[in-house]
Amino acid sequence: MRASPRTNFSSPIRKAALTRADRRCEADFPWGERCPCILRPGYYRFDHIIPDAIGGSATLENCQVICVDCDAAKYPSDRVVIDRTRRVQDRHEGTRTVPRRPMAGGRRSDVKRTLGGQLVFRATGALASRPASIDVRSL
Ligand SMILES: [Zn+2]
Repeated sequence: MRASPRTNFSSPIRKAALTRADRRCEADFPWGERCPCILRPGYYRFDHIIPDAIGGSATLENCQVICVDCDAAKYPSDRVVIDRTRRVQDRHEGTRTVPRRPMAGGRRSDVKRTLGGQLVFRATGALASRPASIDVRSL
């Protein structure tokens, strides 16, 4: 199921979340402590705990008020989760897009690397690698 268009928190939910936060950032650090930041006007965000892009709802339970620093730190990990979820969904639905250019040496490339380290064409088995470099010790 594709995520619907972005859902922002309504004004009553944002007010309730701010009251619950008690002017402190609600983010938890990975080691379990809560961020000590005091929320200043304009320097906090209303964040979806479960990202909106993967179906997190715009409810008070899924809302946390976090400082801009915590928001910036959280975004990359959210992005990883969102992208992975989309890849899994696409694979499940059979709509996964195949890259145009196969990864060098990957299963769909024309050449493969043998156990000896040589590159050979899959179709013919002919050697594709360039001659080994000259061993300077023999000169
Ligand atoms: Zn914070």
